[in-house]
Formats: sequence, structure tokens, C-alpha cells
Amino acid sequence: MGNALEIKCPYCGYTGKHKVIKTVHQPYKWNEETDVFFKDRLGKGLSYRLRKKKCVYSLCKGEFDTVEMLRDYLKVMAEAITDLDQSKKQEKMFKNKVISLEEEIKFMRKQKADLEIKLIIQEEKYRRVVTYWQAAPIEKSISLAGVENFQENEEDEESVEE
Ligand SMILES: [Zn+2]
Repeated sequence: MGNALEIKCPYCGYTGKHKVIKTVHQPYKWNEETDVFFKDRLGKGLSYRLRKKKCVYSLCKGEFDTVEMLRDYLKVMAEAITDLDQSKKQEKMFKNKVISLEEEIKFMRKQKADLEIKLIIQEEKYRRVVTYWQAAPIEKSISLAGVENFQENEEDEESVEE
């Protein structure tokens, strides 16, 4: 029979050689998907020996299942978990990059819109100054600030021309 495996009871935490109360000898299949998974990687479906154990600690007596299987199965599972973890990290990285680019574009579009408004105002100022400069006789005092000022109303413009 050999040495029994020392294992920690999932109920009370007692580590010991818990008593085997049942052994299922036949190769065990988890489900069709895992069978395909292992056949792809190991050339054979998952099989293991299932055992039901009972905690040796007298106050516990909890029952739990353990399995014995080829190390290859565990290796393949661990590698698959690592790959999955890696691809999740990559996905997160790409997602974060996309979000930051979207935010940058949004910010730049806002800047562009603001700049377009500033350009319109500046062009209007330019048009007013040029128009007034060309129309007004040189001897009349010209208030440049007044011409540029957008808040100025028609009355003000007329009073300047008088
Ligand atoms: Zn226990």
C-alpha cells in the first residue's frame, strides 16, 4: 500500500494521514470539453483515481475527495492557467491603451474646437481693423481698441465716425 499522503483537512486544518474510506479505481472523465483539452495537449483524455477520505482528527471526521493522476495533467493545467493569465493581462493592457487614446483624442478635439472659435474671433478682429483702417480718414482719431472690441455696439461705431 505504501506511505499514505499527508494532507491538510479542508474542514479543521489538521495535517495527517487521513483515512481512505472509498477508492474509485476506474479512469475518471471530467467532461467532454476537458477530454478534448487533454487529448489536444497530451494525446489522451484526463483520467485519475478518486478517493474519499475521512479526517483522522476525532472531533472533526470531515470527509473530502482527493485525486491521484499523472503529473503531466497538472503540468498542462498549470501551463493553460499561465497562458490564460497572460492573455488576460494583455487584453487589459490593450483595453487601457484604447481608453487612454480615446481620452487624448477627446481632449484634442476639444482643443481643436476651442482653437477654431479663437480663429474665427481673430479673423473677425482682423477684418474689422482692416475695414476701419481703409475707410477712416487718417486725421480722425482712431481707437484701435474700440475697433477690436467685440462688445462695442453700432452706436459706438457711429460716434467714432462723427
Ligand atoms: Zn478535519
